[in-house]
This record gives sequence, structure tokens and C-alpha cells, in this order.
Amino acid sequence: MKLSKRIASISPSATLAITSKAKKMKQEGIDVIGFGAGEPDFDTPSHIKDAAIKALGSGLTKYTPTSGIKELKEAICRKFKVDNNLDYSPENVLVSCGAKHSLYNAILTLCEENDEVILPSPYWVSYIEMIKASGANPVIVKTDKESSFRMTPKQLSGAITPRTKLFILNSPSNPTGMAYTEDDLISISGILTKRNIFCISDEIYEKLIYDGERHISIASLGEKIKDITIVINGMSKAYSMTGWRIGYAAGPREVIQGMSNLQDHSTSNPTSFAQYASVEALTGSQNELKEMVAEFKKRRDFMVERVNAIKGLSTVRPQGAFYCFVDIEPVLNKSINGMAVKDSFSFTEALLMNAHVAVVPGGAFGDSRYIRLSYAVSMEDIKRGLERIESFVKRLV
Ligand SMILES: *Cc1c(COP(=O)(O)O)cnc(C)c1O
Repeated sequence: MKLSKRIASISPSATLAITSKAKKMKQEGIDVIGFGAGEPDFDTPSHIKDAAIKALGSGLTKYTPTSGIKELKEAICRKFKVDNNLDYSPENVLVSCGAKHSLYNAILTLCEENDEVILPSPYWVSYIEMIKASGANPVIVKTDKESSFRMTPKQLSGAITPRTKLFILNSPSNPTGMAYTEDDLISISGILTKRNIFCISDEIYEKLIYDGERHISIASLGEKIKDITIVINGMSKAYSMTGWRIGYAAGPREVIQGMSNLQDHSTSNPTSFAQYASVEALTGSQNELKEMVAEFKKRRDFMVERVNAIKGLSTVRPQGAFYCFVDIEPVLNKSINGMAVKDSFSFTEALLMNAHVAVVPGGAFGDSRYIRLSYAVSMEDIKRGLERIESFVKRLV
């Protein structure tokens, strides 16, 4: 069977195999501790659920405009003004079926065959596949813990060619949790505006930031960079609304219109009552969010300290999101029970089989010297899981 080149080039999720193995072990009654969570382990706040129920009850169950209901687009514009000092009007905003969908719309609207897209690694898994689906070529810029997983302006300049169309920024980052500083962003924006390269800024972890740090949107650094930036955000992470599928993009009118045209002929509008619930999420009480951030911070502090106490493993302190990206390089090229542990994939597999702990291999994010641990997991499981990881590492010979 011959599939299109476009689709044949997409790789299946490298993390899926391990997830399904862990699931199977659980079904067999094995006590598997999972650090794979890519979503908050909190319930959606009840006032948000109530808003959806109210919308359902009042019959708001029909098509809405493709780009989203007026109330939500206005709430999003107010959010941009208050949180990021960004002035957008509703024509600059497109609501989509999750931030992932917003990203997909943006990449397909901007990129085509022979374009190059600069992507710092470690990167969130879906970017690279979306770039490939558009026909463009990803150009990976490698960062590591020595530079706090932040791409330097020099690295960015060095990766630019006449074909460069787009740069993808994700701060705070999945999988590293690192955030770019204002100075970093000023340098990056200077380079992008000079070379007229579009920027997609994925700010989905904006609200999950610790130690009183302030998130800065690159688009807020001036009109020039704002004119070539598409800001991506959504409800999933901040409001524990991963299943509701509401994300949004803001950017130059022409790009947003192109994205909206694509969405017109693929999904049409995102779910009507989920949009009404999102208005409540953005404009209602933010108390649950504050509590969640406080809890994540506690867990992060514990996890960083505990991981760094394990001989051979280390992690930098993430400033945001809910992941620790753990360096396992010192314990590679060893084995356990005859299983060779040579990279993040074999480490992950051996850890699951021998210690019943599921993690995500860094190789899935472009760097196989690391594993990703999520702390969207109860404190008790974090404690038990890290103990198991420690004794597993000790058994490697
Ligand atoms: C979770 C995530 C998204 C997608 O979120 P949606 O549920 O599609 O809104 C986008 N980018 C990153 C980096 C993420 O981790």
C-alpha cells in the first residue's frame, strides 16, 4: 500500500511503545510507577465545568464561527493585554482544538517544501513531525545542560540559511522546564527581525512558572517582532483541561486568516461548550491555578534534590512546566541482568522491566543522554519511584 510521501515521513510516537508496555504490566497487577504524565494530575476546577454545563443547558451546542466565539476571543485579547502587555484584536486570534492544533495550523500555513525550520533540541516531540508533514526540513540546534538548555544567539545565527522560514521557541520548555531570560529573547528577536524569519512561540506553560519568575512573551518585545510572531497558548496545562481541546493562536492578521481558512476545511470550530467553559477559565477565579502551582513547586523542589542525590544522575532546576530532564549519561554503557543499557531507550526499557518505573526516553525529544520525569504525579509516587530508580542505578554494572 502506498501512502502519500507527506504521511509516510511521519514517525510514530517513540514513547507509545513504552506506555503500552507499562499499561500492560499494570493490567497484570504489577505495581508500576509512572513518571510519563504529560498533563496535570488535578481535576478541572468545578466553576469551569459548571460553565460548560450551563452552556449545554442553554442550548449552545451548535456550530460557532470557525475562529471561535466572540466572548472567548475577547477574553483571550484581555489575557494578552493583562499578562503579556500585548495588544491584539479578535481578528488576530484563532481558537483551535488544542494548542497542538494551533501549532499544526500555523506550521502548515507558513511552511512548504524546501523551507527550513530552526528547532532547538531537546524539543517537544510533535514539532518535528508537524514540520515534516508540511514538507519543510527541520534544522536542529542542539542545546545541553551546560547552557541550561537555552539556545545561544550565536547558535541561532549559525543555523540560518537563505531557506530559513521559521524558528520555533518553547519557553518554559517541555521537556526541560527551562525558560529563556528577557535578554536571551531580546537577542533572538533582533536576529529574527533582521533576517525576517517567522517565530512560533509556544507559551503553553506560561502559567506554570516558579520562584516568582515572570513569563515574557517574545512578541511583547516590540512591534517588529510582534509582526512576525505567532503566539500559541491554550487551556490544557494551566487549567487542567487537556481533554477539552481548546488552544489558541495570536499573530499577524494575514497568517491568522490563512490558519482560519485551513481550519474552516478541516475541523471547523472547536467544541462550542468547551469554548464557553474557556471563557470562565480565563476570566473566573484563578485560585485553583495558584494552588496547583504551589503544589508543583513543592514537588519540583523535592524531585530536583532527590535526583541529584542519586549517584550518577543529575538534573538542572527547571523554572517552569512540570518536568525534570535528567542526565543519565554517566550510567550508560552498563548492563543489568544481561540487558545492555546504552541509551535512553534501553535505559527506559530496563528500568521498566527491572524496577517497574515508567519514564520517557530523552531520545524521543532529540537527546538520548537524558530521560524525562514528570512531577504531575503524587508526592508519594515521586518518593517511591525515585527510590526505585536509585536502587536500579546501583544495580547497573
Ligand atoms: C501539552 C503541550 C502542547 C499541547 O497542548 P494541547 O493539549 O494541544 O493544548 C503544546 N506544546 C507543548 C510544549 C506541550 O507540552
